[in-house]
Amino acid sequence: MDDMFDVIVVGAGTGGIPTAIFAGQRGANVLLIEADDRVGGTLHWSSGQMTAAGTKLQKRLGIEDHPDWHWDDCLRISKGEVHPVLTRIAIDHAADSFDWLCDNGLDLVPFAPVAGWGHEPHRVRRYAWGVNGGTSVLEVMQPLLDEQIGRGTVTLSLQTKMTKLLTENGAVVGVEVQARDGGKAEVFGKNVVLATGGYAANPALWKELTPNYPLRSYCNPYSRGEGIIAARSVGARVDGGDRFLCSTGGILQNPNDPLSARGGLILNPHFRQPWEIFVNHKGERFMREDHPSVDNREHALLKQKNVEMWVVFDEGIRQNAPNFHSEIEREHMKTLFNNHPSYFAADTLDELAKRAGVDAAGLKKTVEEFNQGVEAKKDKLGRESLPRPINRGPYYAIKTVGYAVLSPGGLDIDADFRVLDTKSKPIPNLYATGEVLGKARLSGATYLSGMSVLPAITFGRLLGQTRLKWGDNRAAAE
Ligand SMILES: Cc1cc2nc3c(=O)[nH]c(=O)nc-3n(C[C@H](O)[C@H](O)[C@H](O)COP(=O)(O)OP(=O)(O)OC[C@H]3O[C@@H](n4cnc5c(N)ncnc54)[C@H](O)[C@@H]3O)c2cc1C
Repeated sequence: MDDMFDVIVVGAGTGGIPTAIFAGQRGANVLLIEADDRVGGTLHWSSGQMTAAGTKLQKRLGIEDHPDWHWDDCLRISKGEVHPVLTRIAIDHAADSFDWLCDNGLDLVPFAPVAGWGHEPHRVRRYAWGVNGGTSVLEVMQPLLDEQIGRGTVTLSLQTKMTKLLTENGAVVGVEVQARDGGKAEVFGKNVVLATGGYAANPALWKELTPNYPLRSYCNPYSRGEGIIAARSVGARVDGGDRFLCSTGGILQNPNDPLSARGGLILNPHFRQPWEIFVNHKGERFMREDHPSVDNREHALLKQKNVEMWVVFDEGIRQNAPNFHSEIEREHMKTLFNNHPSYFAADTLDELAKRAGVDAAGLKKTVEEFNQGVEAKKDKLGRESLPRPINRGPYYAIKTVGYAVLSPGGLDIDADFRVLDTKSKPIPNLYATGEVLGKARLSGATYLSGMSVLPAITFGRLLGQTRLKWGDNRAAAE
């Protein structure tokens, strides 16, 4: 390894790869370090949905759109809670990033773009993704990265973990790295870009930054917040951890492992109208299960004790309802009851409640009231999907949790993507892109579809193209 680089990028994932590509294209001598033994980061997990207004795709399909409209949707959906400057940058440059991916061969699903899919809908068809989700994005970026590696502008070092930032007189001058064999080394760079992802795989850091919500996550195991920890130790501000919103329908595969959540059940009425009821630990319904707003349903779950709920149904529903399990077929699902730690079955509601850990009297009362509503075709919470009552044993309950695929808190940066300290002053030579900034920064306490992957790429692209400065190109970049 050279010991002085123009740019050191920490993390070869969604945001780090484009940073390295574009800095390399501009002639920088880049070191890209990656803790894992492969590049791609969370793209190997992500659905890869990306939102951009004014794309070539939209124009080809005759869809009129404008970044101002995207901005309006972001404000409406987030209730005005997004970082105004950074979100605006992400939005204004989104189409160029998306077009760059498409021009380089992104293989989109045939029905893209869509207005709404899993999150609150936008006013026009604006978000899109590749046939292989996040992997499709990696398939586009990897050859471009390889090209820079081939040119000698980017040096990729896999299985190399940043353990701390090196500073001199308050400025970041490099990183300490640890190779797989445990050996440590110091590498120096004129710019250091943290692209290390979130912290949803780090229970201790989650407890510290997001203490009001239990961690249950499905994410890249390398999302350990190491960029946040390193930046904080050189004075960076970390905020936003309390602005969490869960996804619904997670199932813990191991109740003792917070990282074992898997998005198992299709509970979104956009894809499948509910036949079941959702109850909390008191056995009470707390949301209209077919409420059309995802945001409404996610926030309703967020308020429940331990951010968990039970999906309750009977044998009649099990046999007649469309399958609501995304991975497990109806007959296979039956084998899980009383064998899997989150699946319960019993001949009576009393026994079911006991096994599932739900208040029995509450559950019986709730089911009785629900059945009356089905009979009268008038549900007390306003639910419209009332196909049949819950009255034929055996009875079933599946415990589901609100879970995280992203972490809410992170580093603050300015419009040049420079990491800010606790007094809002840039820490010299330190930059960041991606989930290390915290999901809440560009989404608030809600889900804005496609506002993580594409902004990570956009900020990385802009860092490489214009924001990072080194040696002779300083003047050209300004
Ligand atoms: C299941 C799932 C679905 C999602 N769906 C969407 C979606 O549809 N749309 C959307 O916008 N967002 C989605 N997201 C979120 C989005 O994918 C991520 O926020 C984004 O990919 C993160 O990019 P990143 O560059 O910040 O981090 P990553 O892509 O995770 O890259 C970080 C890299 O840094 C490496 N690293 C970490 N620590 C160190 C260290 N100390 N030293 C060296 N390397 C290190 C990691 O190994 C990793 O390769 C989803 C996330 C998940 C888990």
